[in-house]
Amino acid sequence: MADQQYDYDLFTIGIGSGGTRASRVAAAHGARVAAAEEHRVGGTCVIRGCVPKKMLVYGAQFAEDLEDATKFGWTIEGKSFDWAALRDHVMTDVSRIESVYTDTLEKHDVEIFHEHAEITGDHEITLASGKVVTTDKILIASGARPHISDFPGCEHVITSNDAFHLDEVPGCILILGGGYIANEFAGIFNEFGAKVVIANRSDTILRQYDFALRDRLMQISMTKGIEFLFNLTIERIEKREDGTFAVKMTGVEERTFDLVMAATGRVPNTEGLGLETAGVEVGDRGQIKVDEFSKTNVDYIYAVGDVTDRVQLTPVAIREGQAFADSLFGDGEPYAVDHTCIPSAVFSHPPICSVGLNEREAKDQYGQVKTYTSDFRPMKNVVAGRNERSLIKMICDGANDKILGIHMIGPDAPEIMQAAAVAVKAGMNKADFDATTAIHPTVAEELVLLR
Ligand code: NDP
Repeated sequence: MADQQYDYDLFTIGIGSGGTRASRVAAAHGARVAAAEEHRVGGTCVIRGCVPKKMLVYGAQFAEDLEDATKFGWTIEGKSFDWAALRDHVMTDVSRIESVYTDTLEKHDVEIFHEHAEITGDHEITLASGKVVTTDKILIASGARPHISDFPGCEHVITSNDAFHLDEVPGCILILGGGYIANEFAGIFNEFGAKVVIANRSDTILRQYDFALRDRLMQISMTKGIEFLFNLTIERIEKREDGTFAVKMTGVEERTFDLVMAATGRVPNTEGLGLETAGVEVGDRGQIKVDEFSKTNVDYIYAVGDVTDRVQLTPVAIREGQAFADSLFGDGEPYAVDHTCIPSAVFSHPPICSVGLNEREAKDQYGQVKTYTSDFRPMKNVVAGRNERSLIKMICDGANDKILGIHMIGPDAPEIMQAAAVAVKAGMNKADFDATTAIHPTVAEELVLLR
């Protein structure tokens, strides 16, 4: 293993998804590893992101399922919703997962410091307690945090970090931004009975997704009562004596909300890490610049996950952490993560999911493309009398029918798409899907019946 002149072979700053995977795998390869986390072990995904959010999405879905249940013969008397009960249950489970993460690291003999860590010299880390340690390699996996624009009253705005801890569901909430978090929390709050308004600076939501999915999500969201405002910015927010907020947006009369939440992107956590001391280069979005092996411009310092702002998704950070640890501490050849053809989902109501190129990207890159679409009402919605249609879109290379992208909105779309993503990643053609027998009756069978 590495040079014994240092206290550790690897010191990881930040124990989120990427940092955990890298530390555990490096230790499993025999490295002496320490890791520091100033908040809670698990990072954004486990503590204040994907995991608790998905639990809220499940909780929110019951609003529709209980309503639909009557059409399936059920009588549900006295149904009511208790936000505090759900919130506390979710937070208990988050703590459970946090301890699972901690146990896993400790079982691999990763030494955990629950405090801030900063690079203070060559191969040197100083902890908040004043302890100074040395390490052969440093991995920065400090993640990202919500961005809030600067405007008068911006201090009144909450972020998704706070949304998990609210005392109550707001009667009326304004969500700034039109991306992942805005649409996911719009669905959650709307299902829990809040009046939700989404306000975005541009003229669209979820700009990286195929336009057909965006349109369909907007249509369905509006039918459910979510309001969309576009092309505006916040001029000011004032807190009134009754605790509500007076919000002035460009071109819109002043409106009152119980809560305003910003979901306007996330910025890399690079402050206070000693990057200047170490001479680590940072890009114009504040991200740590790395090469394909996650190495910075400083030979012994690496970075993975959201702090590098390559693709801000947990599974990507995990793959980057794994590749880093295997490449530096394993026996095999170094390898890089393939950042192409990454499937992604938005857990809106209903969810949307994509893998590969959207139609615009496909046309830009391939010129001639063939598009196959299925626009249908899932059986469960038909029986429930829910007028909500799903959409599946497959985009193929016009020259050879190779699948370039698949896009779907509808119940269980992310569960279905994970398997389809294997086929797209493997470079399969439409004919391979056509040759596959359907599983009937399912929503997923539409994928092999596209005409
Ligand atoms: P997104 O990048 O998804 O969306 C940001 C939204 O805010 C866009 O609508 C954008 O407008 C707008 N915006 C961006 N910058 C500003 C600004 N300076 N002022 C005003 N508006 C701005 O960010 P989120 O915060 O929703 O999520 C952050 C990231 O976290 C996501 O990109 C994703 O990678 C990850 N994430 C993934 C989830 C999942 O996998 N299901 C769930 C939640 C988060 P415009 O329309 O102009 O682009």
